[in-house]
Amino acid sequence: MNRQLEHAQAQYAEQIDKLNQQLQQQAEYTEQIEQLQQQLSNSQSEIESHKQAQKQIQQSLSAEQQARAEAEKMAQDQAAAREELAVQLTELKEAPAAVAEPVEQPLAQTGSCDCCGTNDISMDELTKIDSGHLFCSTCLAEMRGG
Ligand SMILES: [Zn+2]
Repeated sequence: MNRQLEHAQAQYAEQIDKLNQQLQQQAEYTEQIEQLQQQLSNSQSEIESHKQAQKQIQQSLSAEQQARAEAEKMAQDQAAAREELAVQLTELKEAPAAVAEPVEQPLAQTGSCDCCGTNDISMDELTKIDSGHLFCSTCLAEMRGG
């Protein structure tokens, strides 16, 4: 019986040791868990500050994008204005030729005097009087003289 009792006591002692070891391990685990929780909490606050930073970056990015869009629009407007100016300049350059043409045509045209009936008188030398008739310089001079 004694031997059995000793044996049982030894077993208990062993079990207690094991339990103590487990308790020790549990305490270590608890500590580890606390550390992990601390790290997690730190990570969360880091993530939070990362998010904040990201938000700020996005805000400044969108501000930058807006500024860039405005600058692009301005550039486009300027380009459009420049193009318009170029078109106007081209029109101005072409304008004298276009204007010169109808001016040259009446110069080449001739008419007849409504007074003496002479034909092929240069339009330069014909004068339209108040009644709307065309007078050659001779007839005009005579009319004014008479
Ligand atoms: Zn005449």
